[in-house]
Amino acid sequence: MFNIFNFSTPMKKLLFIMSSLIIGAGSISAQDSNPFFEEWNTPFQVPPFEQITNDDYLPAFMEGMNQQTKEIQSIIDNQDPATFDNTILALDNSGKLLSKTSSVFYGLNSANTSNEMQATARDVSPLLTQHRDDINLNPHLFQRVKAVYDQKEKLGLDSDQLKLLEETYKGFVRGGANLPENNQEKFRKLNKEISILQLTFGQNLLAETNNYKLIIEEEGDLAGLPNGLIEAAAKAGNADSVTTGKWVFTLHNPSVLPFLQFSDNRDLREEIFTAYINRCNNNNDFDNKEIIEKLIRFRLEKANLLGYDTYADFVLEERMSKKSENVYNLLNQIWVPALAKAKEEAAEMQQMIDREEGGFAHEGWDWRYYNEKVMAEKFSLNEEQLKPYFMLGNVRDGIFYLAGKLYGISFTQVQDAPLPHKDATLWECKDADGTHLGVLYLDFFPRASKRGGAWCGSYRPQGYKDGERTAPVVTIVCNFTPPSGDAPALLTPDEVETFFHEFGHALHGLFRDVKYDGISGVPRDFVELPSQVMENWVFEPELLNVYAKHDITGEVIPGELVDKLENSSTYGQGFKTGEYIAASLLDMDYHTLTEIGEFDVLRFEDSCMTHIGLIPQIPPRYRSTYFQHTMTGGYTAGYYSYIWAEVLDADAYQAFVETGDIFDRATATRFRESILSRGGSEEAMKMYVDFRGSEPKIDGLLKKRGLQ
Ligand SMILES: [Zn+2]
Repeated sequence: MFNIFNFSTPMKKLLFIMSSLIIGAGSISAQDSNPFFEEWNTPFQVPPFEQITNDDYLPAFMEGMNQQTKEIQSIIDNQDPATFDNTILALDNSGKLLSKTSSVFYGLNSANTSNEMQATARDVSPLLTQHRDDINLNPHLFQRVKAVYDQKEKLGLDSDQLKLLEETYKGFVRGGANLPENNQEKFRKLNKEISILQLTFGQNLLAETNNYKLIIEEEGDLAGLPNGLIEAAAKAGNADSVTTGKWVFTLHNPSVLPFLQFSDNRDLREEIFTAYINRCNNNNDFDNKEIIEKLIRFRLEKANLLGYDTYADFVLEERMSKKSENVYNLLNQIWVPALAKAKEEAAEMQQMIDREEGGFAHEGWDWRYYNEKVMAEKFSLNEEQLKPYFMLGNVRDGIFYLAGKLYGISFTQVQDAPLPHKDATLWECKDADGTHLGVLYLDFFPRASKRGGAWCGSYRPQGYKDGERTAPVVTIVCNFTPPSGDAPALLTPDEVETFFHEFGHALHGLFRDVKYDGISGVPRDFVELPSQVMENWVFEPELLNVYAKHDITGEVIPGELVDKLENSSTYGQGFKTGEYIAASLLDMDYHTLTEIGEFDVLRFEDSCMTHIGLIPQIPPRYRSTYFQHTMTGGYTAGYYSYIWAEVLDADAYQAFVETGDIFDRATATRFRESILSRGGSEEAMKMYVDFRGSEPKIDGLLKKRGLQ
């Protein structure tokens, strides 16, 4: 994902940079010291972060594209008939410098960016789109790929080779290679427009999120808020001379969400809530409505050009779900009980308001606040009681312990290695027999240079070179509650779950052992299985006993608190599941349109939500104008993926439970061998059935969410 502030790099400047690069291509002086052009003699060949400057990226990108263009030209120029080795494999091996550069650049642009990096991202994005189209739409290259594909049965390929051949061929067809020439031009134009619109959508959202501030001047207006949040708001206030001595709350989740959860001041809740649900819907420079309209239109046009009725048809063909009916089926099955539950929850909150003689009807800005109060009353449990048991270092050790129990692997901290930021740490992961599997960066706390949320990525993905496995460099990046004063970082239960989740992605990366880059990727609706399955262990008493220890007394979390946690775990699912499914349906509704006439984004959103009967107190988890997942490309017709994968993870976890031992090594080994190590070298459902013996059932999920 891109985070870019610099909107206005003039085209002239870009042309200047490009032409100076082209002119300078023959001279080696400037590029002599570019770390991307050298082998990395660092521990485990991690990127030499401290030596890389922003000026190194653009030349490395340009040279990377240049090299790949030459590599492809030599595939085309080969006088021998096209074979798997001289065409498909050669193509898979091309572009090494480009991917070496991209992995580091995009990893850091998310985790530790700067204005300069964001400007570079803005410059590079259209060039990469064009480079990709130049490859996909190269008729001579496609001819050779097709020649190999047409005789695939006769070539005696092994299953990995066959899969690579099929994926490569499909990639070309989906990239427009079969289009007649006049439509290819149109196709290129659409790709370019779409990539710029997606980028602008994200820029606008970042700007609107950063621009808003709720400034509190009176201490009395802080009533109800936890100390940690107040301290963070004071710190945010002191960061700017205009707000020094005041408290500043923002639209970033770690600020706005707990504010809505705890603030006793109803007017202020309404104010920040209203700002939150109207991001990029303020008819100013950062408004996203027109961008959405164009995006939806261009995506449909692109799908139509390729012969699909809808954009969802184009996307889902490559996913586990295959068809939009299958997605709607799943979502609707969950929507019905979730909505019923949400209505019950709303009624319960209204009762509390009435009992307190509040004299008002429950609104959207009351939901999180009264949810917290009902929870406290029903289960005598609040978040602040739990936090002392979730010390970050202990949680990390608990996760490593779990990985050791399941897979026999171990993690050791690496000292004196280059770091993407001074707050990060590096860990070596070794297999049960001591073999090196890869390394893992952990980078936990928020900072201005990091985008929001939590994710797992890699500064170097696993690969193969000269028949040897290249170990990956994986990273987990989070925005966890930082330590305050001398106290250690204490996590909320949600943050603990997030850590387990991202660690599941990390294991998927560390265990991967796939021969070809072209078959390493996993469909979007399968990729959350390895991560979400890890969440099942988080609150298992057997594991809590190991890691959930009080930060001062060292006492293990009391059984009584664990019981409360368990009893309360399904409370609030009407809201949580409801807001999520509503957004998933909205995403699908946009991308199953078969024609787009006069189009009004707000009216469309409204009619979709009315159609499913969403109650007014719950907005979809993301409204259209800030629905980054679907609008910027990562989860287009794909926001449903989390719940799709949850059907899989709930069912997969049952495989452990059924053995009577949640740490069962044999089941874990099967999970690793069938799924975690295989990347995308096999159909997702086939991998799943290899592990479980049958296709997954939805019951586990409904039960887990208390919706059955
Ligand atoms: Zn995930």
